[in-house]
Amino acid sequence: MTEYQCTIKKPVSVSGTGLHTGQQGTLTFKPAPTGHGVVFCRVDKPEKPLIKAHVSNVVDTSRGTTIGVNGTRVYTIEHVMASLTGLGIDNVLIELDMEETPIRDGSARYFVEALTEAGIQVQDKPREYLIIDEELRIDNDEKGFWLSISPAGDYSVDVTIDYGTQVLNVQNASMGSLGDFAVQIAPCRTFVFLHELEYLLGNNLIKGGDLSNAIVFVNRKVSQEELDRLAELFNKPKVKVKEEGILNNLELHFPNEPARHKLLDVVGDLSLVGMRIKGHVKAYRPGHYANTEFAKIIFNQYFNQINHEKRTAIRPAERAGL
Ligand SMILES: [Zn+2]
Repeated sequence: MTEYQCTIKKPVSVSGTGLHTGQQGTLTFKPAPTGHGVVFCRVDKPEKPLIKAHVSNVVDTSRGTTIGVNGTRVYTIEHVMASLTGLGIDNVLIELDMEETPIRDGSARYFVEALTEAGIQVQDKPREYLIIDEELRIDNDEKGFWLSISPAGDYSVDVTIDYGTQVLNVQNASMGSLGDFAVQIAPCRTFVFLHELEYLLGNNLIKGGDLSNAIVFVNRKVSQEELDRLAELFNKPKVKVKEEGILNNLELHFPNEPARHKLLDVVGDLSLVGMRIKGHVKAYRPGHYANTEFAKIIFNQYFNQINHEKRTAIRPAERAGL
């Protein structure tokens, strides 16, 4: 069965604050023609520069995935990218009037809701796939992560997280196909350890946080004084540590919500290869650096096999002229 490229039926916007920059603004998804892909446009700049969502444009992965061209950047694109992939949207122009996408509740839920509301428009050109025909792998002993991708008829992802801390045990999350994304993965919010949060706040690296857009794990003893200070910083009347070792700012949507969020990030970051993937991904302790480095490996492996006019991934038998 031929699958066709998709865009959205009408423009739709999501407004809010950027987590790291603290800027407030609006992101607008707009329909785009076949072959366009996902392209960001910084409409707050006079020249309205375009930045293609592609692994070759990744310029920073320290706190989120950032793309940039000629000094113009878009920060924290991963949840937007995962939403588009999860809903099967190939072509869209994303206008943004600030440097960073809105964080909203730290999940992909608001983007998925907006795109669903806009409606999916099936286009008249077939969708082309990057078909994994042999296992690829990245291992990094120093940072303690690995990812692999192996041949499969669909796109599926298994994630394991393990931070060697009691408060957040080893967790697994799986997505059998992209059809599970919107309900099972998209609502899962980002998480942070309390010591990281204090570092980020102390260094002014987190400006759009209000304690509702991250699950906060408390992995050490913390005084009431510190909790009161956090409550003040986040404008909450009272903050306490719940039995499961998380702050009482929110309720978990799923017991393994952290692992599911890491899966969401993997989907977003790997989409930067620029094509739909058919393969089975396994990821151990993934993160934006790990994911985007792996996306580069996948892209480089298949880049030479891609006919750029048709952007078609060619199977080994076809390459051999069989
Ligand atoms: Zn994330």
